[in-house]
Amino acid sequence: MDPIKNVQVELYRVPLAKPLSDAKVLTGRQKPLAAVDLLTATIETVNGSRGFGFSYSLRAGGSALLAHARDLAEALIGEDPNDIGRLWEKLAWLGASVSRTGVSVQSIAAFDVALWDMKAKSANVSIGKLLGAYRNSVPCYNTSGGYLSAPLSEVLSNVERSLERGLGGIKLKVGQPDLKKDIERVAAVRKHVGDGVPMMVDANQQWDFTTALRAGRMLEPYQLVWLEEPTHAYDYRGHAELSARLDTPIATGEMLSSVAECCELINHRSVTFLQPDVPRVGGITPFLKIANSADLNRLKLAPHFVMEIHIHMGCAYPHEAWVEHIEWLEPAFNERLEIKDGQMMLPERPGLGFSLSEQAKRWRVDA
Ligand SMILES: [Mg+2]
Repeated sequence: MDPIKNVQVELYRVPLAKPLSDAKVLTGRQKPLAAVDLLTATIETVNGSRGFGFSYSLRAGGSALLAHARDLAEALIGEDPNDIGRLWEKLAWLGASVSRTGVSVQSIAAFDVALWDMKAKSANVSIGKLLGAYRNSVPCYNTSGGYLSAPLSEVLSNVERSLERGLGGIKLKVGQPDLKKDIERVAAVRKHVGDGVPMMVDANQQWDFTTALRAGRMLEPYQLVWLEEPTHAYDYRGHAELSARLDTPIATGEMLSSVAECCELINHRSVTFLQPDVPRVGGITPFLKIANSADLNRLKLAPHFVMEIHIHMGCAYPHEAWVEHIEWLEPAFNERLEIKDGQMMLPERPGLGFSLSEQAKRWRVDA
């Protein structure tokens, strides 16, 4: 065995090109998003193998991720980096007093992704291939062009640019206090792009059940691929009822941060598209348990954010899987994902296929 010799964790605050608002801002619950906190982990072995992984936080929580990761890092020294499942459990038990969900597992995610990166690099394949890929690309859609902070004219030009770039679908944020305004935006974009372009909408949990059902019925004519987060993230039964009463498929899951929580959505038959997020659920290791359960229930997959990780998970999922194109972290990395004819390609580079860029150093905040 080649034991782990060194573990380094760092925190970067990656600024967005322009602050963005979804419905949570319009309903007064959050401020516009201006940056992403990126927690990175670099793991090195005695013989010089290296793994790189990351986790993230939006708005508050980045410094908590860093503090918990620092508490855990020492426990990896001297361990066999191949024993990823055992090491995940070791770190989870170490932090069990602060739970097996939320910040504690989101810190573990950076180490877990780094260990999978190292294992895939040692096999000289991408993580997607290591996991037994079903395909080399997945359909991708653009989210960042459809925020509520952008007036309709800007959304329409963002949509044009996305489609020209080869992105396959368009997601619009909805959930404004005035439902009529949401419907007008969706109608205008559908009219602009025509019937052939896949479209999704995302209410970011800002409707109660009654409004979600009413909005869902008003949105039926627009042939949406899915209606995302129509109501509260933990309302498993409400989502199940919406799924049963609407023709438009329901998607949710991005706010959940454990295998157990995601399995509630599966067990309640809440969704058609499950939306787990590798950093939020604690890494690739717990994500695989969720994906297996989703597979057995014949669900479709649309993981949330971090396309740099989720391209691998989408390609390794047996049923329909979409990857969300959000370019927020691109400036922090040297590499770019290739997009062609509506599809995002699995990188041929070994491992995760991403390394920190030189300019990212300017955004380091843990020193
Ligand atoms: Mg969403």
